[in-house]
Order: sequence, then structure tokens, then C-alpha cells
Amino acid sequence: MDLTERIKYLRDEINKSNYKYYVEENPYLSDYEYDQMFAELKKIESEHPLLITPDSPTQRVGSVSEKFFPHTHKHRLYSLDNTYSYEELELWYEKIQKEFNEPVELVCELKIDGLAIALTYEQGYFTLGVTRGDGITGENITTNLKTVKAIPLKLFEDVNLEVRGEIYMPKTSFERLNEENLKSGEKIFANPRNAASGSLRQLDSTVTAKRDLSMFTYTGIFEKGENVPNNHYDSMMYLKSLGFKINPNVRLCKNAKEAIDYCKEWEEKRFELNYATDGVVIKVNKFSYQNELGYTSRAPKWATAFKFPPEEVVTKIVDIELGLGKTGAVTPVAVLEPVQLAGSIVQRASLHNFDEIKRLDVRIGDNVLIKKAAEIIPKVIKVMDSDFHDSLPIYEAPKICPCCGEKLESPEGEVVLFCKNPKCPSVAKARIEYWVSKEAMDIDKIGPTVIDQLYSKNFIKNPADLYKLTMQDFMQLDLVQEKSASYMYNAIQESKTRPLKRFIAALSIRGIGKENAEILSNEFGSIENLINADVQRLSEIQGVGEKLALEIYNYFKNPENIKLIEELKSLGVDPQKPTQTISEIFKGKTFVLTGTLPTMTRDQASDIIKQNGGKTASSVSKNTDYVLAGENAGSKLDKAETLNIKIISEEEFLEMLK
Ligand code: NAD
Repeated sequence: MDLTERIKYLRDEINKSNYKYYVEENPYLSDYEYDQMFAELKKIESEHPLLITPDSPTQRVGSVSEKFFPHTHKHRLYSLDNTYSYEELELWYEKIQKEFNEPVELVCELKIDGLAIALTYEQGYFTLGVTRGDGITGENITTNLKTVKAIPLKLFEDVNLEVRGEIYMPKTSFERLNEENLKSGEKIFANPRNAASGSLRQLDSTVTAKRDLSMFTYTGIFEKGENVPNNHYDSMMYLKSLGFKINPNVRLCKNAKEAIDYCKEWEEKRFELNYATDGVVIKVNKFSYQNELGYTSRAPKWATAFKFPPEEVVTKIVDIELGLGKTGAVTPVAVLEPVQLAGSIVQRASLHNFDEIKRLDVRIGDNVLIKKAAEIIPKVIKVMDSDFHDSLPIYEAPKICPCCGEKLESPEGEVVLFCKNPKCPSVAKARIEYWVSKEAMDIDKIGPTVIDQLYSKNFIKNPADLYKLTMQDFMQLDLVQEKSASYMYNAIQESKTRPLKRFIAALSIRGIGKENAEILSNEFGSIENLINADVQRLSEIQGVGEKLALEIYNYFKNPENIKLIEELKSLGVDPQKPTQTISEIFKGKTFVLTGTLPTMTRDQASDIIKQNGGKTASSVSKNTDYVLAGENAGSKLDKAETLNIKIISEEEFLEMLK
């Protein structure tokens, strides 16, 4: 392909993707692929400036659809140049630094992955809200924007100004919306950005009002006056004092190195946030410098975006593997052509269940978009359009267990398929793996490989067999010497007196994890009492409910399960009753734990809180009283600071107990 042909190809592809992305809200390329093509086109054009045409996508921003009344912006809205490389970021800074005789301060902000809007305030009142569109003309969506609670309708001062911000949908609200839409057969959104955009551009504003949208304000254009800030950082603080919602993670940096440190920090921490961010925006702080640097045809020269390694990429499904869990549930997992995703190579992605495969119409051989979220294993989001999809065979859910061949069953009204064979080797091994896990009996040094060997040598078939193992049995395993054999043997013996809540969790009752096991342990105090409870009694417990009550009841009605518990008891497994309340020091107080504590585990700290009348919660909210923080605490700490919640160290915590 010669240069003009390549340019034509890139421009056509980019224009087509722009239309799909901005107008149809159904992208067919991942952002990373799009950015790579865009960077290639920009490079060719900068090396051959005569080939630049005014209609090249490198000279334009976004696109306007015709759903709402168009509105011409008073001040143009630009896009941002971007890079995926720290080296390029340093070069960008060096170039700017050379223009001025003093070190140039930068402001780093998270790049919120949502929808840009411009808001006008007159005498402190919100009067107009417009989408970015192509930067010159946008759509007037004032009525819909008035339903977004983070947009103040009246400011704390009677000022005239324009602000820009990003409308976004929190990740949890996005998941909830998709779950509801799935049930009612409405549109499923590919990501929170699409959901935010679709919700905001509704012709009926009562629909927008029902969607949980929010906004972070990131720019103010002020009328000249005495109090007007002369740099970006101060302007953000000023906007905050006027009543706008500002992202709490804005940071002033002295140089490129500090900005790069900020990017590295958030490359890791971004998954802890409840909103999507695809990078960091780095801006020159001083307004006078910004004015001197100016703009290109589509972006400011005084700002750039560092984009995180992609969270979403396209790859091929080479197979669909079937996994078996501790409850016998069969889960499909996509085996992928290896691909780089968010900084690591990915070869597997979750497909949830067979209904999801059907809904997405995933077939082996398809190109799919996969996304990394907080979970370790990424998920398949959608099948990419292709001309070969229809010729691939439709995927059929399995009828029999991939391990033992037993016919699979699905409880009435459910989509999950189960292998009910009590002797199925994969299910048995998954149960033992869960028995020894940190969440259950916490038996150190015995992992899936050891369990696999013990199982294939016929030493163990169920959790009770672990307690029959001798030192000699361990010595027969590959690479196991006396020292590690004795370590494993002792770890098993020590586990005999684990608390009742761990024992209940370890039984692998469907729907009973760590939290529910603790509720049952506190409620019944012994395994015998739990075994004898009827459905009525179980369903009366707060947090259990009818469905779970029936699961628990049926589990203990199964003679195999009772036999296992009896055998465990005869082997000396003696679950300890829940510890009684020692004091009421923390009565009515809710703690959130984060980071690594110096001398105790988070579980131990949480036990102490409960023994002293307090409660623990997994996320920080207005109702949190204390955040007990250790080293490497994550975003919970930021949230606590924003909400003004007291943060304490382990030392202060122990002091409170005295
Ligand atoms: P952009 O989204 O990369 O960057 C500019 C935007 O960043 C601004 O308009 C603003 O809305 C936003 N932003 C978020 N936080 C900000 C902050 N703190 N300060 C300033 N701005 C902030 O650029 P764009 O022009 O909107 O879109 C181009 C990008 O969109 C591409 O790089 C690509 O990733 C994606 N895209 C993808 C496809 C596709 O097919 N997948 C098609 C078109 C565009």
C-alpha cells in the first residue's frame, strides 16, 4: 500500500469509527486500536504536511448528532492529544519547559471516561447545558442536565461563568442498569461511558432523572475580575467553593517526574474507583503560560492525556472451556488468543453462564471485546461485527458434566447448570480446595497442586480425609521433603479448632460465603443447632431469606453431608463457638478496614471490633465512624478524607481499647 492509499484507509476507518462511537454509541473498535490508527495518521501527516486536508479527522473533534437543538458554543471545546508512553510525556514537558525561564508547574487529574459538557451560569444560576459535539456546535440538553444532582442549579456566589465537566455513571449504577435492562429486554450498554451518554441524550428527561448520573467539573472560564484565579489549581479550588463537584484526586506537580509518579500510582489504583477513568490529564498550571502556548486545530498545546494501558481490547476466542466449582456449578470460560490488557498478558476471560453466551451470541472463532475490571479475570463484553460470525457454528451449552459425564441439571427458574454427582472428581477437588482456602479453614501451604496429587494418589476424596493424612503420605508427593511435609501436616492439625463461622463456610453450601457463615454461627452457636434448624427458623434470620434457608435446610437433609460432618468430628475437628462480647466500647460504631496493619490481619482486627460491640463495613460511606488504615491503603482512604471521616492507625485503635 502506498502512502496516499494508507492515509485514505486510515481516514476512512477513523471516520467510520467516529460515527459508530459518537452517533450510534456502538463502537466497533477498542479505544486502543482507534488511538493507534489515529497516532499513525498524525505521524504520517506531520512528516508530509502537504497531505493534510481540512477534513482529515486529525483536524477535527468528535461529531454532532441531530437529536436535540444545535447550539454554537461561545468558547470552543477542544479534544486532548494523548500518549501511552512516559517517554513522550517527558518530551512534551521538555518542549514546554524550553519556552519559559522557570520550572513549569503541572496539574494532574484523572481523565474521567464519560461525556464532555459545557454549562453556563448567569448571576449564579444555571441557564444552559450543551454537549461538546464537534467542539464548535453541540446539542442543547439543558432540561436533562437539570436532573443531574451534581450540577448545582444555583451557585454560592452570583457570578457569570462557563464550566466544563465530564458526566459519568458510577460503575455500580451501570451494572444495576444493565441487570434491570436485561430483565426487561431493553438495551444493554457496553460500558459506563455509553450508558452515561445514552441516559443523557434521552428525549424524555424523566428517563434521565431515573438514571444515576454524576459530574466532575474540570475547567472554569471566568469573567475578568479581582478574585479570578490566575492558575488552574486555584481555579479548581474556587470552583469547589462555588458548589461544583471536583474530583478529589487533583494534584499539583512540580515537574514531569512528579506527574509520571501520579500516572503510575493511578495505573494500579484506578480499579478501586467506582467510576471509569482511562488516563490522566496533565495541564500546565499557570493561565498566562497556557495562553502563550495556545492550541492546535483540535487540542490545547498546554495539556495532554496519558492513557493507561488499555482496559479493553479485542481478541479471538479459540475455545470455550468448562470449569467446575465447589457447588458443582459449571462455568464457561473463554480461552483467548493471548493479548496485552491493562499491563499483563491475558489468555482467559469470564463468560458468566450459558445464558450470557446465548445473549451475546458468542461463538468459537469470534473476535470479542474483553474488559478488565476489579476482578482478576477479565470479562467478555461483546462480539465485534465481522463478516465471518454468521458462518461459525452456534455454541451449544453442554448436556453432560465435562469431568464425570453425569447429566447436568438446572434448578427451576435458574440459568446455572450443575453436576450433582457427589463423586465427581472435579467437584470433589474444588471442595477440598475451598476447604483449605483463606476464606474457609485457612490451611497454609496446601494449594491446588498438592490437592491434585493427593487426590490422584487416592489419599483424599473429601475434606475429612485431610485429617487422616500422615507425614509419610506427604513424603510421597513430588518435591516434598520432611520439612514441608511436617509444615503441611501441622497446618492441618492446627485447623481443627478454627471458629465455627469458618467451618460453616468451608462446607460449600450454595450461597453461603464468609459473611453468611458468620451470621449463622452467631445465630446458632453450634453446628448441631444449625443442623436441627427448620426452614421457618432459618428464613427468619436477617440476611438469609427463604431461598437461602431452603439451600441450608436441604444441605443438612442430605445423609452424605451429615456423614462428612460426623466423620470430621470423630477425627478431632472441633469448631469453636463464636466469641462472646467482651465489652461495648464500640457499640453503634462502624469501622472500615484498609491496607496492611503492622501486627494483626484485617480479620483479627475485625474480630476485635465485633467482640467489643462494633460493626465492620466493606466500603466507606457517611455512616462510617472510623477508617482503620494500614500501609498501602487504597481509595478508601481518599473517600474517607473527602467525607471527613476519622482515620486511625492500629496503634490508635489499640489505644481506644484500653
Ligand atoms: P478524549 O476523550 O481522549 O479526551 C478529551 C476529553 O477528555 C475531553 O473532551 C473531556 O471530555 C475528557 N476529560 C475527562 N477528564 C478530563 C479532565 N480532568 N480534564 C480535561 N478533560 C477531561 O478525546 P475525544 O476527542 O473525546 O475522543 C477521542 C477518544 O475517544 C479516542 O482517543 C478514543 O479513545 C475514543 N474513541 C474511540 C472510538 C472507537 O471506535 N473505539 C472512536 C472515536 C473515539
